[in-house]
Amino acid sequence: MAAEIKTVKSLCNRCGLNTNHHVRFNHSVSDSCDTPDGESIVDWGSTYTFLECCGCSDVSIRRHDWCSEWDHGSYDETFYPPRVSRRKPSYFESLSEEYRSLLGEIYTALQADSRQLAMMGARAVIDLFILRKVGDQGDFAKGMAKLEQDGYIGKLDKDIIKAAIDAGHAASHRAHIPSSKELTAVMDIIENLLQHDRLAASAETLRKHTPARTPRSSSKKETP
Ligand SMILES: [Zn+2]
Repeated sequence: MAAEIKTVKSLCNRCGLNTNHHVRFNHSVSDSCDTPDGESIVDWGSTYTFLECCGCSDVSIRRHDWCSEWDHGSYDETFYPPRVSRRKPSYFESLSEEYRSLLGEIYTALQADSRQLAMMGARAVIDLFILRKVGDQGDFAKGMAKLEQDGYIGKLDKDIIKAAIDAGHAASHRAHIPSSKELTAVMDIIENLLQHDRLAASAETLRKHTPARTPRSSSKKETP
């Protein structure tokens, strides 16, 4: 009878969900050394686990690090490839090259948990949106006021975007490391902004290509 394969819950990049994974292989390494004062010994180690998603068969390696100097039971966990915390939106490929290029780097930064870089990138996307829609207005506040004046955004949107810009400003100038929650809020704003813009552009294209209805002529005689 074949040995039972252990399963664990883990985030799958391909499924985008926490799924059951088969534990295919484990390999552990450990070492120890004396503390500088020679009065005690420090132990540490790592366990590498080869995981396979039960749903889609995607494979990943989980590294679990521990050290006798850490709080009891605490450990570090790293995945290869890194787990994707946010997936690209479904409409990503339909965006313009400029947006795709910027956003692609933002998602890579998010994947590596480089939150300051991701926030700076988010601000750059908003800068680009302002530039493309209403041109250089001199500063962000004027740019956003113009966006609101021209009907691209409502007051609420403006306040939300301003919050995103302030967060990006803090990230670039005051060594502020945004929390995951802040970053998620900013990414929600940007993705909504671009999606609405894309839908508006699609509606405009549809309108231009829809033939105008010809008014029915009242003088036209019916064929006998
Ligand atoms: Zn999967």
